[in-house]
Amino acid sequence: MNRGGAAVTSTMRCELCGAAARRRCGRCRVTFYCDAEHQAADWEAIHEKVCTRLAVVRGPSPPEALQVHQDAHRAQTRLRLVRTG
Ligand SMILES: [Zn+2]
Ligand SMILES: [Zn+2]
Repeated sequence: MNRGGAAVTSTMRCELCGAAARRRCGRCRVTFYCDAEHQAADWEAIHEKVCTRLAVVRGPSPPEALQVHQDAHRAQTRLRLVRTG
């Protein structure tokens, strides 16, 4: 039998280390992790801040108004990041 040798979840990679992922963020469902440890680490680092945005992206195409709002919010966040270093 020839199955081509492709892994079942070949496209799912850990956000942190790139290993085959077995876990997925239950909130946004677009980010994958190899284990709970890396999921927690990424959550602390950045994912907590982007998870809700990813969840929006995941859904049905957002209205234009929302995109504009996100753009403005993005600029504000950038300023904040600069100030806090
Ligand atoms: Zn990992
Ligand atoms: Zn998430």
